[in-house]
Amino acid sequence: MSAFVDQLAHGPGAARYGPTPVENPALGEVFAQAPGCTPEQLDRLLDDAARAFPGWAATPLEDRRDRLLSCRRALLAVVDPMADLLTREQGKPLKHARAEVVLAADWFAHTARLDLAPERLVDEPGARVGLERVPHGVVAAIAPSNYPVLLAVCKIAPALLAGNTVVLKPSPDTPMSSLMMGRVLNEILPAGTFTVVSGGAELGARLTVHPAVRLVSFTGSVGAGRTIARQAAADLKRVVLELGGNDPAVVLPGTDVLAVARDLFGRAMTNSGQFCAAVKRVYAPRAEHRRLAEAMADMAESAVVGDGLDPATEYGPLVSRAQLERVAGMVDGAVAAGARVLAGGHVLDRAGHFYPPTVVTDLPPGSLLEEEEQFGPVVPVIPYDDPEQVIARANASPYGLGCSLWGDEDRARALAGRPECGTVWINTHGDLRHDVPFGGHRHSGIGVEYGDWGLDEYTQLKVHHIALRQADREMS
Ligand code: NAD
Repeated sequence: MSAFVDQLAHGPGAARYGPTPVENPALGEVFAQAPGCTPEQLDRLLDDAARAFPGWAATPLEDRRDRLLSCRRALLAVVDPMADLLTREQGKPLKHARAEVVLAADWFAHTARLDLAPERLVDEPGARVGLERVPHGVVAAIAPSNYPVLLAVCKIAPALLAGNTVVLKPSPDTPMSSLMMGRVLNEILPAGTFTVVSGGAELGARLTVHPAVRLVSFTGSVGAGRTIARQAAADLKRVVLELGGNDPAVVLPGTDVLAVARDLFGRAMTNSGQFCAAVKRVYAPRAEHRRLAEAMADMAESAVVGDGLDPATEYGPLVSRAQLERVAGMVDGAVAAGARVLAGGHVLDRAGHFYPPTVVTDLPPGSLLEEEEQFGPVVPVIPYDDPEQVIARANASPYGLGCSLWGDEDRARALAGRPECGTVWINTHGDLRHDVPFGGHRHSGIGVEYGDWGLDEYTQLKVHHIALRQADREMS
């Protein structure tokens, strides 16, 4: 076990907080104790963040950029121990955990390049109007369990660049990598600028309602997002909500289904299906859907499922027993109502929270597997007869994160305006970039992250309107 884990369990912080157990989902065993945070401690930490805010906001932008670049270097220096923790707490294969930490480090550099220059909106004989983007104050960043390091940095980096101070609450399933990040970044950032607190929904709720917090940036499920929006409304706090998805992939008529099967399978199973923008349901022309499902089932059968620390592993466990039970329950429910499982379809008989890649056909109408986000390695392949109707069926879901269209590009482009969602992909799915906004429509969220548009969410507009008197005009 890493020295860091040992230090948290037995070091000076442990006595102050009172630890909570963190499980390794590949073993189903507790491997670490995360320090908890009492309400009083949270209040004190938020006071510290509020006190640090004016100084950080007044720090020249160039200096804040430099600190972000130092954060990148500091994370790159701990890729191995942080990736090890990430695999132990989240379950993903070690090489994917390493890639996540490296990407998170680079995100600091991408964000450091963004601009916040003031603008001159009006320059007329009688008036000059300027616009600047100012920070909100203390930002509560609440992160999910699937990409705990990357998705936290996607909030921390732009929030800090804009001049906010940040209190991050990771998921109680995956707090260890974030706590390590807190230790590492606190060597670089001024006291109170960035704090990590670990705990569950109750701590998150207290964070959301605390008067010191001016913006809640949340990534997680629709249900928690709805609660957070309600909690934040009492004090009219700003919210950015990046929520769940139930993304359809629509294979267009005339497409060679065997040519797209590998891509569809990979994009449904990313991170064992624990990816907001994974393919969550596939629609294929009726005559072809079975061939596609069978090809995907062959891939499922040959997938290597195991402990992420084993270099051969392609797919790790689900992050928690609760998530495993949810996924198993959705498949069992579909099967009981007449669905057919072509591959997988049962909890693996071994320690840990393992569910194998699973392909399902013959879904009965109204199945939860079509209507709800499964957030696990299960993909239904659903036949359709009319491409017009299938888009309407895809849109019938209240989710609106993404949708992909597969096949002839012209035909796909002609349909691309129809899906009601934040991103439409053609012949790919779930590709995200640091310089392209990402966000959900409808129940999948409010606001966006990434790039200039994401940075804007961490600022508010402030107008400077100067009436120029005759004398000033002559002088200027
Ligand atoms: P979750 O909603 O269970 O938890 C997310 C975080 O919210 C955790 O830190 C949790 O402790 C906290 N939380 C829960 N209730 C809260 C409350 N009332 N007040 C404050 N905080 C609260 O989600 P999860 O299982 O960790 O993540 C999976 C979900 O996240 C999926 O729905 C997935 O699609 C979604 N997600 C969305 C995006 C996106 O960018 N749109 C990205 C990743 C994950």
